[in-house]
Amino acid sequence: MAKSIGIDLGTTNSVTGIKKAHLEIIKNREGELLTPSCVTVKKKKKLLKLGTMEEYIVGRNALEWIKQDPANTITAVKRLMGRNLDDPEIKKMITNMNCPYRISAHSKGTVNSLAVVLGGKEHTPEQISAKILEKMKSDAENALGDEVVFAVITVPAYFNDKQKHATRTAAALSGLKVRRLLPEPTAAAISFGVDTIGQDDAKTVLVFDFGGGTFDLSVLTISGGQFIEQGKGGNMWLGGEDIDNTIMDFVLGETAREYGIDDMDALIANQDEQSRNLFWGELKSAVEQAKIRLSDDQETYIEILAILKDGDGDRIDIDVELTRKRFEEIIAPIVDATVTLTRKLLADIHFTPDLIDKVLLVGGSSRIPAVITAIENEFGKQKVLLHERPMLAIAEGAAILSHRLSDTYECPHCGKSVSQSDPTCDECGFDLEGYIISESVFDIVHAAAHDYYIYLENNERYLLIEKNTPLPCEKTEPFKLVHADQRLVHMKFFNIVNETEESIGDLWLGIDENETHPEGSVHMEVTLKIDENNLVEVAAGLKELPHVELTKTLSRGKADEKLFISLENLINTANRKGYDIYTIEDLTSRALSVITDIQNVIDKQTDDVNESVYKSTEMKIDKAAKLAEKNITSKPLICYAQDALNNFGPMIKDRRKAVIRKRIEKLKKMDACGTYAENVKALEALDTTLDSIGWVNALMMIKKAGECCEEHEPARAAKFFNALETIGRGHVNAEVDRVTSTLEEVLPQVQEILDQYDTKTGTIHKDIRR
Ligand code: ADP
Ligand code: MG
Repeated sequence: MAKSIGIDLGTTNSVTGIKKAHLEIIKNREGELLTPSCVTVKKKKKLLKLGTMEEYIVGRNALEWIKQDPANTITAVKRLMGRNLDDPEIKKMITNMNCPYRISAHSKGTVNSLAVVLGGKEHTPEQISAKILEKMKSDAENALGDEVVFAVITVPAYFNDKQKHATRTAAALSGLKVRRLLPEPTAAAISFGVDTIGQDDAKTVLVFDFGGGTFDLSVLTISGGQFIEQGKGGNMWLGGEDIDNTIMDFVLGETAREYGIDDMDALIANQDEQSRNLFWGELKSAVEQAKIRLSDDQETYIEILAILKDGDGDRIDIDVELTRKRFEEIIAPIVDATVTLTRKLLADIHFTPDLIDKVLLVGGSSRIPAVITAIENEFGKQKVLLHERPMLAIAEGAAILSHRLSDTYECPHCGKSVSQSDPTCDECGFDLEGYIISESVFDIVHAAAHDYYIYLENNERYLLIEKNTPLPCEKTEPFKLVHADQRLVHMKFFNIVNETEESIGDLWLGIDENETHPEGSVHMEVTLKIDENNLVEVAAGLKELPHVELTKTLSRGKADEKLFISLENLINTANRKGYDIYTIEDLTSRALSVITDIQNVIDKQTDDVNESVYKSTEMKIDKAAKLAEKNITSKPLICYAQDALNNFGPMIKDRRKAVIRKRIEKLKKMDACGTYAENVKALEALDTTLDSIGWVNALMMIKKAGECCEEHEPARAAKFFNALETIGRGHVNAEVDRVTSTLEEVLPQVQEILDQYDTKTGTIHKDIRR
């Protein structure tokens, strides 16, 4: 029977659990409960000189490799998941001295996507995470002697939809089917057994998760199987590693004092590369081990012998004593920081410590006695529960949920496969119902992790779905377009995470030019759907134009997003600069075609980027931007040339007419699919030819002035049309004087009219309002 497991995919360590009759944490192939979330690749010479073969190594053996080749060992990849290169957290990570591997722009990525370099090859964070999950899956299969297909995987409560999507992708790459992504604090609460609190007996807990690199706080109210998040806090950059670094500084300081070394950093920097890497690796693991011992012992020693040498080649051995008391002094600022952050979270959500029923301590660093004491002082000793196995708690919670979500499970009495709905076991008659009730009273209800908003005109925000709404949920809301002739609709959806806006995706609707717009305002409906797994889908439709509709799964952070951002910038620039209406019309129709193209950039089945559609769309946007900026529009010139031929054809020589016709065709073609340069060239060619029919141009201007008057000042129109007739007759009868004098009389007025009425500036409308 295919097994269903729970995985804590941690920043520092990953853990797999399974619940059968009992809850069990599965040991990896190395015999450990914790698998370091660390990945490296080793090149192996292939037999028969067929080149080299790569082998990915995950866990303890990868972590050991840091000492040999730190640049090729990836740690803390969880921090990179679902983030862009310009994310402030990524910038921190790149500048952070503790990140020796390379994080760079993904050369094949079309977005602001990032890659880590491992074995000289680019990998996405999802690919690295998948390697960790692959090991968790395969080690579990090895231990259970059975195939593992399904998993509940835990994610931090602050993960947004993009980060969750990246986690889901990693799981898919590893061959695991995700039953649910479970927030870590909820998993912790489940493992403490607090999920069985009844409807009438709501409890509020603070989950205090102090891990290797992060410190996560969550306040949850639990009632009837529902977990309502009241608030979250902590610090993404505070954890056991910071404690290790503080001890390291202490150890180096003590050693420098003992040997009378002025500049310890310089001494280490002067070691050859191999000893230097070895020294840092040894020191790192020695201080961590010392720290772990000090959770039980009162004193310990840190020893690193025979690696460092001074300038004279004499050995500098590290041999430092560290007492619990001294340790607590040097880590006091870190412990204080956890207390301050806890107080801050409570203050932020207007809670006082007496409103917290229980404080659940999880994460390896919660083992430190000074941390436990500090939290007990805040909340009272009786409220604080330290998990018996703080580093395994999250995986236990995931395993429990995974078990509950599986359709079938093994009878706890005889091991036969039974279904969730069976009251008793067919084989042995075991009371399954009674067992389930005693083990897990309620189903877990999932809730929206954030508030979901949409933008209205003037950057107003509109709340569509409120945080903590039970999932799945769906909401449809009516909106209106802002302008009767609007051709584009841009809907921007976003969450607010830690008080900052996080885009979850955009939806664009294009209303084709041939579409007859109904009179008055156009109504639209927007539907936002979130399923149990927090997957978001949006749909939008226009009431008056029911066939223009669009449904899309959001939050992919893929190439289409980048194109939409370019399009948005292009339109915003046009509206800011106030282009003339010809340019605006031209841009609008280009935008419509771009929207259709962008919707084909991502393959709906495989999620892959269609490179050729991407490239050509990018080119189209780029061309539209350049044309608009230079005020170059082909369509008005094409119309003008056609008008000139239709109205004043007899006054143009046949040979010239043929040239104009040819150049019109060429320009039409280049306008639609030529590059910017080809387009400009074709336009200039037609323009030059039209220049050579000088006085037909004058007639065209008079005609235009007449038309403008018909619209705005009908009384003046006749004058211009009469002048056209006079000139026409004069031309036929070769009366040069009459033609010239009429032109001289009428042209100044033509200019005045055109200045007044022609070439107004326009706006591209794309917003919505309530
Ligand atoms: P993460 O959630 O980031 O993957 P874990 O919860 O697995 O992290 O915690 C790992 C951290 O806990 C490491 O920094 C490790 O040194 C620390 N740690 C583990 N055991 C102890 C202990 N007994 N005392 C103090 N720190 C510990
Ligand atoms: Mg953790």
